[in-house]
Amino acid sequence: MTCIEVPAREGRAVGLRAGQTVTIVDVDGGQVADTWAYVDGAPREYASAEHTRVAVGKLFPDRGEDFVTNRRRPVLRLEADTSPGLHDLLIAACNAERYVQLGVEGWHASCEDNLRQAMGAYGVGDVVVPSPINLFMNTPFLPDGNVQWLPAQTAAGDAVVLRALLDCVVAVSACPQDVTGINRRPGPLRLEVGD
Ligand SMILES: [Zn+2]
Repeated sequence: MTCIEVPAREGRAVGLRAGQTVTIVDVDGGQVADTWAYVDGAPREYASAEHTRVAVGKLFPDRGEDFVTNRRRPVLRLEADTSPGLHDLLIAACNAERYVQLGVEGWHASCEDNLRQAMGAYGVGDVVVPSPINLFMNTPFLPDGNVQWLPAQTAAGDAVVLRALLDCVVAVSACPQDVTGINRRPGPLRLEVGD
């Protein structure tokens, strides 16, 4: 089994053949995992939050349901989930500008930078940045339409298993957000690739 450690505030990418799984583990608990998938060799086709919401008819797939691409092809199946099941498919990834607007002075790590770095290290440059699959993110929308920024409820070792339905590259960022309180404190993730 291939095992990739994602240090706190960083990102990593891993290639999957159709049929393989990646288990995304919240090592210490309370950590959001921004996740993307690009079709191998055709990175302009990627797991799409908005197309997935249409495909499943809800805000986030249930176990056994699929994330689809912007070409509406199933690319990842939500195979298993040992977390409390709180995830988000609505909120953009954090980027440098977000931290400036939150009042941070100077450089701050971001999920968008982590994605670019991880995909670059994998050999894919100039990626588009789709809306992410925000695993473990606890940001419910209230009936009045407002969003709440609450800490992730995951315990140490909680995990989601995604099965590749197409050959693809999965990138995961251990979200470095430490201003809004969605992470208990920025911590590490682990990616376990299985058959
Ligand atoms: Zn982030």
